[in-house]
Amino acid sequence: MRIATYMKAQQQYVGVVSDDGLTVQALDVAPETAKQGMLGLIRTHEDQARLAELARGAPTPLDTVKLLAPIPRPRRNIFCVGRNYHAHAQELSESVFKANNANPAAWPIVFTKVPETVIAHGEDVVLPIDISEQIDYEAELAVVIGKGGKNISKAEAMNHVWGYTIVNDVTARDVQIRHQQWDLGKSFDTFCPMGPWLITADAFNATDTRVRCWVNDELRQDGKTRDLIFDLPTLIETCSRGISLYPGDIIATGTPAGVGMGFNPPRYLKSGDRVRIEIDGLGTLENAFR
Ligand code: MG
Repeated sequence: MRIATYMKAQQQYVGVVSDDGLTVQALDVAPETAKQGMLGLIRTHEDQARLAELARGAPTPLDTVKLLAPIPRPRRNIFCVGRNYHAHAQELSESVFKANNANPAAWPIVFTKVPETVIAHGEDVVLPIDISEQIDYEAELAVVIGKGGKNISKAEAMNHVWGYTIVNDVTARDVQIRHQQWDLGKSFDTFCPMGPWLITADAFNATDTRVRCWVNDELRQDGKTRDLIFDLPTLIETCSRGISLYPGDIIATGTPAGVGMGFNPPRYLKSGDRVRIEIDGLGTLENAFR
């Protein structure tokens, strides 16, 4: 099931998107639950089995509502994984970034983005032109946690996944590099487009799908999640080691090769550029940069 968070007549809803992607049918949940988007739904419905029974009323054409990010304001920072595809690790080692080696580390690189970075499909990313001229895109599959937990084992990890969405881990490369820790360069306002909706775990094979990214219709990234260096169970196990994960927590799983920094010379984003990310079986996330 694909579930969207959206506004209609100044009211916020969560609803089921039809298979053809043309309509959405509201779920009958309390307004205070719908106000949190998917976060409210995940908190009150860890078990997805009976969600479909909550669909009410006539379907609404999707082009008559305003899509919001599935979780418009995450309850805390988004966990993000760095350098998690071999080909991307390789391109960074040859870029101005000169990552110390292209070999996979023993442990995943994990950093975070602040919750206020999140914007919806169709909203503009604001280029912080006085601060950085090295703005880059990173197409990523994101895991959304359902059942919380601490010290979750790999064997149990997938039972903690509620669903998946797409994020663009927008990055100011110069800021990322100069501060050693990546959070500042990853956390500018509007730097986390998310959406267009969330797909429930039962409806999606996240371990074998394709992640593609176009800049102004030029294909830049084309990766397969089966090529992840650290797979989804390993990432969930890693992020939950000694740290409690909560319903609605988000883990962005890393980006395939083809980022702007990987080109020689680098190809950073400029005002007017459009970045479109597609994950097969999930949907399309598109945002303009201004
Ligand atoms: Mg990333």
